[in-house]
Amino acid sequence: MADITFKGLYKIFDGDVTAVSDFSLDIEDKEFIVFVGPSGCGKSTTLRMVAGLEEITKGELYIGDEMVNDVAPKDRDIAMVFQNYALYPHMNVYDNMAFGLKLRKFKKAEIDDRVRNAAKILGLTEMLDRKPKAMSGGQRQRVALGRAIVRNPKVFLMDEPLSNLDAKLRVQMRAEITKLHQRLQTTTIYVTHDQTEAMTMATRIVVMKDGLIQQVGRPKDIYDYPDNVFVGGFIGSPAMNFLAGKLKDGFFHLGDHKIKVPEGKLKLLGNYNNKDIILGIRPEDIHDEPVFIEASEHSSFEAEIDVAELMGSETYLYSKIDNQDFIARVDSRTDINGGDKLKMAMDMNKCHFFDIETELRIR
Ligand code: ATP
Repeated sequence: MADITFKGLYKIFDGDVTAVSDFSLDIEDKEFIVFVGPSGCGKSTTLRMVAGLEEITKGELYIGDEMVNDVAPKDRDIAMVFQNYALYPHMNVYDNMAFGLKLRKFKKAEIDDRVRNAAKILGLTEMLDRKPKAMSGGQRQRVALGRAIVRNPKVFLMDEPLSNLDAKLRVQMRAEITKLHQRLQTTTIYVTHDQTEAMTMATRIVVMKDGLIQQVGRPKDIYDYPDNVFVGGFIGSPAMNFLAGKLKDGFFHLGDHKIKVPEGKLKLLGNYNNKDIILGIRPEDIHDEPVFIEASEHSSFEAEIDVAELMGSETYLYSKIDNQDFIARVDSRTDINGGDKLKMAMDMNKCHFFDIETELRIR
């Protein structure tokens, strides 16, 4: 079993930089946890504390039942994969993968067995004699994964392992890492600033900002029920729209526009009548289909399109309501251009409201 428990972990660097604050989390055996957040939010530092590469300032860290605060990295039974692969350029693929096992004095036959097995899983069997410089970025990253796999560790730690790859390869490797996890079932912590990787790979996502956990949950729950404005804006692309307005007698007022708030949502807003609040609505919940608009008379409005971006299967419409920017994500069957005036409607059953001061979702 390799569950990992963080109890109130802090990392304060010299000179008083608090990189991680009061980080508490239970990771269960076999989970694929993704730490996601903008640059500098503390995700790498947290991962490095698990690896033992960074000292813990305060709090306790457990791998299984063992408190590992003072356990040396090599004794933690973890394997780490970095963004820059960190392969030995003078060694071929076989030796790169075998190196860690040789250091740990594994028998030759056992090493051979493990290396060939990992090579098979990763499709590297034909390349065992090659040197890293004669390989593509994706192949090198596979070798780096291989080096972690042969160790058969309790935990994999991955720090932005795909960020040096081009967009197409990233998508491919994303699926390969997911398949690998399904096959090996090793508890994994994966760090990225890319919300798409978090959404597609994680069993649970940990969203971080300024050294603090903002929300922990399954991808769909985080997407559908963000705890605050930051999470709503960070997870999802294009981002959730946020529109400031006033709640008044069952309607959300956006300048001259009056949008009816459904009963279910209104119940949550008891204390907010006559107050400014923030409406959060995902781009796909603003519609341009006539049938939807007809049925949603109380949440429809007319807007002028600033820019229409055809993405292929869908179109992003950039527009304004009450002088506030929003994006709608609509079907690209309709031919819409910048300058067009268009009727649209919001699916108010899918929206959220946030407190304007705390930016927390009102629930
Ligand atoms: P990125 O995606 O850019 O790698 P991150 O979320 O992984 O960002 P960290 O690298 O964990 O962020 O850094 C968190 C904070 O700690 C940042 O403000 C960073 O400047 C600071 N920091 C990191 N390492 C050190 C260090 N060795 N000394 C002082 N401050 C540091």
